[in-house]
Parts: sequence; C-alpha cells; structure tokens
Amino acid sequence: MLVATIIGARPQFIKAAVVSRAIAVYSGQHPSALREVIIHTGQHFDANMSDVFFDELDIPRPDHHLGIGGGSHGQNTGRMIEALEAILIQQRPNWVLIYGDTDSTLAGALAAVKLHIPVAHVEAGLRSFNRRMPEEINRVLADHASDLLLTPTDTATRNLVGEGLSGDKVLQVGDVMYDAALYYGQRAQKTSRIIGQLELQEHRFILATIHRAENTDDRNHLGEILSGLSTSTLPVVLPIHPRTRKRLTDFGIALPENIKLIDPVGYLDMVRLECSAALIVTDSGGVQKEAFFHRVPCVTVRNETEWVETVASGWNRLTGANGQRIAKALVDFAAPTEVSHNFYGHGDAGGSIVRCLIERNRAGQSAS
Ligand code: UDP
Repeated sequence: MLVATIIGARPQFIKAAVVSRAIAVYSGQHPSALREVIIHTGQHFDANMSDVFFDELDIPRPDHHLGIGGGSHGQNTGRMIEALEAILIQQRPNWVLIYGDTDSTLAGALAAVKLHIPVAHVEAGLRSFNRRMPEEINRVLADHASDLLLTPTDTATRNLVGEGLSGDKVLQVGDVMYDAALYYGQRAQKTSRIIGQLELQEHRFILATIHRAENTDDRNHLGEILSGLSTSTLPVVLPIHPRTRKRLTDFGIALPENIKLIDPVGYLDMVRLECSAALIVTDSGGVQKEAFFHRVPCVTVRNETEWVETVASGWNRLTGANGQRIAKALVDFAAPTEVSHNFYGHGDAGGSIVRCLIERNRAGQSAS
C-alpha cells in the first residue's frame, strides 16, 4: 500500500512526524506492506521553519519538493494543485494523507479527490466558526472533500456530525500532537540546552508566539499584544515567525524592552521553553494545546479557539488582541489546582491512523 503524505508548514511537519514514525514501525514488522511518499509543498521553506523539523524529528526526506511559497493564498493553492496533480497521477497512491488547515491541506484534498484517490484528513473537525480565518475555510473544505475524517477530540467529532459528516467516514483517533508531546517531550528534557543558552530561569519567564494573520496583519492588534506583554514583570521570550518579523518592520513598531526576540526554534527547544515557562501567551493552535499537555497556563490572544477544552478546563484564557485584558491576565491568571481530564486521546493516535488506513484499504480491495 502506498500513502502519499502532503505537508508544507511547520505544524504539519510535527504532526506528520508522528504518523511517519508509526508507518516505519509497521513497515519494520511487515516488510514491503506499506510505503510512504512525502511531498513537501514548500509553503514554509526557511531552515528554521522546515529543515530543522526533518532533522530533529527523524522525518524521512521529502521525495518531492514543490518549492511553492511566498505568494498569495490563491497563487499558492492553485500552483500546488497543479503540481500535486502531476505527482499523484504518476504515483497513484492508495491514500493521500493531509494535515490540519493550511493551503497545502486544501490543495492536497482538491488534487486527490478529483483523481478519485481516497483522502484522509488528520485533525479533521476543528472549527473556530470564524470564516474570516483562512485556516477555517481550508478546514471546512478539506473535511468535505475527504473520505476519512480522523478527529482528535469529542468536540471535533461533534462538529462534523453537525455538518452532516458522520458514520464510517469519521474516526476519532486522538490528537497526533499529544503523541508528539509525549514522545519528543522526554527527548527535549534531555537534549535541549535552550534555557541556559538564553540565560533564563526556570518558571521565571513568559513564552510568547504570534503569527495568525488577524494579529500580524493588523497594526492595531499587533501593537495591543505587544503593549499587553510590555507590562510583564518577567522577561518575555518571543520566537518570532517570519511573517511577524516582517510586519514589525513594515509597521515600524518598536519592541518593548522586556521582550527578547529570538529566531524560530526547533521543536525540542520549543517544548523545553514551554515546559519551563511560567505562562504562555500565544495565538497558535498547537502551542495552546502544548501548554495544556505540559500543564502550563496559557493566555490566547484571540477571540475564539478551536481547542475549547483547554478553556473549559481552566488552563487557557481568551483575551483577544486587547492590551488591557492581556495585562490583567498576566497578573491574575493562575493554573487551576485540579488536574483535568485528558481530552486528546492516549498518545497512540499515530498507530491508530496507520491501522485504519491499512484496514480500509484492504476492505476496499476485497469489495472491488
Ligand atoms: N513551534 C516550534 N518552534 C517555534 C514556534 C512553534 O517548534 O519557534 C512549534 C510548536 O511547538 C507547535 C507548532 O510549532 O508544535 C505550532 O505551529 P504554529 O504555531 O506555526 O501553527 P498552528 O499550531 O497555529 O497551526
């Protein structure tokens, strides 16, 4: 069986690493039964947004690199569909695996579905119910084009049912990012030297990330977030996304003194920073969840989140891009005392995905 994995952006490398590892384990036990071909669209191309993840997380090198990035949503998605179609016609995989909610996800779904190649969407069913987010459009369309919807949580499964997607098509497998947090988290504690390198003290700093278009492309939102962070009495470490760095320059925004800007870091250093932070401030979906996995309180500078369980359990607070609300959260938001239920599965989502792909492929072959 041949699985074509389509990835292109940072969070997708981390998610795909989990499934690639499960594929490698299965292939070790059943030689020649399963092969993966990896297609990198090129959406993220900097060494510290792409290569570092392949190196650190032992992801096999991409078999195809499309080198498509830097354009508008329409340009990127269109060019990706064209290039992916050619590769899929040539490879004829039994499954196309797509991840999350980027332009690469949508392009992969559209290219495959029109060739009648079964599509499996990992992290299906997530919804912010905010159609102004490009990610929300990508998720909804990718889910409706997919043959197999692999959901991480009860909420995601319910969201799909609400849209008429249910039955055999939907399988709740847990969250691959929880698998990643468990597996690579231990490695990060042993190998990362980032706390010493940045001269930080354990639990005496705030970790921040900002990269959602709604925050970076709006001067007022970006300014509000930085003004909220400027009130922190603890140093703030901000691994800066290339888009955010560009916007700071475009808008001529000066950085508050307590904020230490660093280049994006690899996953192991990021996990180490997350585990050692007193508090995390972010607009990232993945980082909100990782804060929860590692039980670090999180302030999310958005008005809504797809990961509603983190808020309901008291580990995450939504402030929007509002300087005053962020400043208040920095002083009065404490971790809940109760350790909450794990909503994200048991850390074996990768294995469940691989088993499901194999079983469904067998079932499809015997039916035809
Ligand atoms: N991440 C990382 N280095 C960084 C910032 C983030 O490895 O400098 C990781 C983070 O730990 C998480 C993922 O990237 O696993 C989240 O990606 P991102 O915030 O770009 O996307 P989102 O999750 O919002 O889709």
